[in-house]
Amino acid sequence: MSRYVQQSSGIQVPNGWPSLHAISDLTPFIGPSNWSICGRCTAKGDIRTFSSNGRDGKVFNFNIRDQAGSEIRISGFTEAVDQFFDSIVRGKTYFVRGGRVKKADPRYNKTNTNYEVTLSRDACIEAAPNAEAAIPVDSFQFIESLKALEAEGVQKGSVVDVCGLVLSVGDPETIKSKATGQEYTKRDVVVGDESMLRVPITLWGDSASRFPERLQGTAVAFNGCAVGEFGGRRQLSMSRDGSFTETVQTPDPRWLRLAQWAPRAPTNENGYTSVVDPTADPSAAGAGGDRSVDKFRSRLTVGQLSAINVAEVEVAPKTVFVKAFVTEVKYQKERTFYYPACMNSAGCKKKVVQEDTGKWVCSKCDMKFDRPRYRYISRITVSDHTGEADLSMFDEVAEKLFGISADEFQVKTETGGQAGEELLDAANLQQWVLRVKCRSDTYNDVARVRRELMGVYPIKPLDEARGMLDVITEHMGNM
Ligand SMILES: [Zn+2]
Repeated sequence: MSRYVQQSSGIQVPNGWPSLHAISDLTPFIGPSNWSICGRCTAKGDIRTFSSNGRDGKVFNFNIRDQAGSEIRISGFTEAVDQFFDSIVRGKTYFVRGGRVKKADPRYNKTNTNYEVTLSRDACIEAAPNAEAAIPVDSFQFIESLKALEAEGVQKGSVVDVCGLVLSVGDPETIKSKATGQEYTKRDVVVGDESMLRVPITLWGDSASRFPERLQGTAVAFNGCAVGEFGGRRQLSMSRDGSFTETVQTPDPRWLRLAQWAPRAPTNENGYTSVVDPTADPSAAGAGGDRSVDKFRSRLTVGQLSAINVAEVEVAPKTVFVKAFVTEVKYQKERTFYYPACMNSAGCKKKVVQEDTGKWVCSKCDMKFDRPRYRYISRITVSDHTGEADLSMFDEVAEKLFGISADEFQVKTETGGQAGEELLDAANLQQWVLRVKCRSDTYNDVARVRRELMGVYPIKPLDEARGMLDVITEHMGNM
């Protein structure tokens, strides 16, 4: 057991306490009263209420990280909330003893240990001012830059620490769970870095409500962010145990580089591009960067596109490229051009319905929102010298084509009194390279080909010339 002594060197437990343990040595086999730990509080959650078997209860949790860098999540129920909640401050060091060690559920617990602690009735927590100097203040393991998020090896759901320049701070929003009636606060911030990439980070609960707007334009470190994807782009969501700070104490090289760059950096979001998820289904990458697809090998004329028949796509859908002009945006006020969609950042796009209370309800997520996010569901006609074809499309692609988000479009037409046709005028007669997915679709018992626009790309003359040359060379080789 000399290990404990070594790891806790310089730290004296209070008199009468069990000997000090390294957090990594806590296991469910240790009796609830036979251990003590010392560490810094790295995260502290809100008090949450629940009811079980007709009784109301409350719970809060906090994380403690020790000298060796191991971090454990500690939960305190009802009496423990009254006893300890107020005295625990994030960033301060504490001695903790008394609690059952159990296996952590990795879905909710994002710390670097496999176990967590539930405080018992005889639990004790005491401030440990004599340990302040021995336990590092920060424990960030930053990714090299936002560019690192574009690596294929970054799994969805993995947790990372990032730092970046805050480019925008959204308003806090309240989301109510229909099932439990519990309200959640969420807030989106967008950060960018020297790689000239940007990524949205969703904050929840206490972090969401207290994120100061003054941090816009400054470098901020975020710890415990889960990696997600939306529309082919990476996004981050800070876990319950996550935290943020604008002052990183330890001389972390990644942080120092960012801090040096930040004061001279552009603060306009438009100067940065989104982080692409290379593993995303290319059919979802509408607005993301479609960079690898050979846009020439499967290039068709519009005439060839409309000639594709049901038999050709019955077994599997077919994706083709065409170069064409937008000749009509099918916008009629009385028909659906956009719809109010769920705001759940998990990527639900379901239609929401407004209740009498004014709240918008998603029946799939069981959540209520103050407002919906409008999404396009639109149709256009495209043409070239060989003919024309009707294409349907969803939000990301439509936004790129129209140059205006569905949210903006809705506000301008429904409350601003502006004519939709006028807003869409700029999209007319624009030429694009279009990625179209053709599949068989049954409508009124008749099978037909549905042509959906999955991606739009500006025409780059150099790329066009190179692609054409490749195709010609290929033909020459076959002769
Ligand atoms: Zn939903």
